[in-house]
Amino acid sequence: MGTRRERRTGTALRRALARGAAAALGLALGACTSPPVGPPAPAAATREASTAEASTAEADSRGAAITAGRLALPVTRVAGLSVDGRPLELRSLGAGPRTVFVLASIHGDEGLGTPLVEAVWEHLLRHPALLDGLRVVLLPVANPDGLRAGRRANARGVDLNRNFPASNRRTAPARGDGELPLSEPESRLIHDTILAQGPSLVLTLHQTRRDLPVGFIDYDGPAGDVARAITEHSDFTLKRLGAKPGSLGSWVGIDLGVPILTIELSHEADALDAEQRWARLSPTVLEPLRWLREADPRPGNAP
Ligand SMILES: [Zn+2]
Repeated sequence: MGTRRERRTGTALRRALARGAAAALGLALGACTSPPVGPPAPAAATREASTAEASTAEADSRGAAITAGRLALPVTRVAGLSVDGRPLELRSLGAGPRTVFVLASIHGDEGLGTPLVEAVWEHLLRHPALLDGLRVVLLPVANPDGLRAGRRANARGVDLNRNFPASNRRTAPARGDGELPLSEPESRLIHDTILAQGPSLVLTLHQTRRDLPVGFIDYDGPAGDVARAITEHSDFTLKRLGAKPGSLGSWVGIDLGVPILTIELSHEADALDAEQRWARLSPTVLEPLRWLREADPRPGNAP
């Protein structure tokens, strides 16, 4: 497993993982003692796992999330607390070797990603074949205090997306960057989750400025192919904004060498009903999952 992980992560991430920084914090979701949320019931799951040759069609039903003979119990747990004590909830699905980490609402006034992540969770529970070869880790609300207040920053006025230990962080931090990298519990949780989980791909869901009607995709690190895969299956366009100092994208994409997509959902989509939103927005998450499922697993080619 270590060998496979090394193949799929950047050099810097390998070094960070070797230091075991986050593993020591016990953040691995597998260690969770919380009861699984939703199906499957363990007994039914075990029974189905014993027939690991079951067809994909059989597995692809609401019930046991079994992919390629692997048992995957959906797990939800509170992994930390925000500045004001609100829960930071992590969820995981799937048992495949490639991990995707999806987070939403790091900017509290860009909340549309949260219901999208909730809908993706429900969709994956109903269609576990989509998890084949994957493990999906979700953080539906990265900035719960900001989301509650409708404010970009967290409760201490820090823009969490400027609070990462990226090499391009300003030496004289601007107001709102936080005095030190990872000064905030919310950014620390994201940082530690990434080091603990070793994702092959990170998706962070934002929303555009209100005067921009169409959503777009930005990316950092080796994510051009997966970003283009989304544009081919949606009305999203590519738009490179440049690496922001101290941002999650800079730290993950540039410093760790792990592909990260910054998905800017449009505010216009706020006005759509749930079905229309799903049709418009779900490719931003489901296409990257498909891309990763089908990526070339040979050494040197794995994302
Ligand atoms: Zn944003």
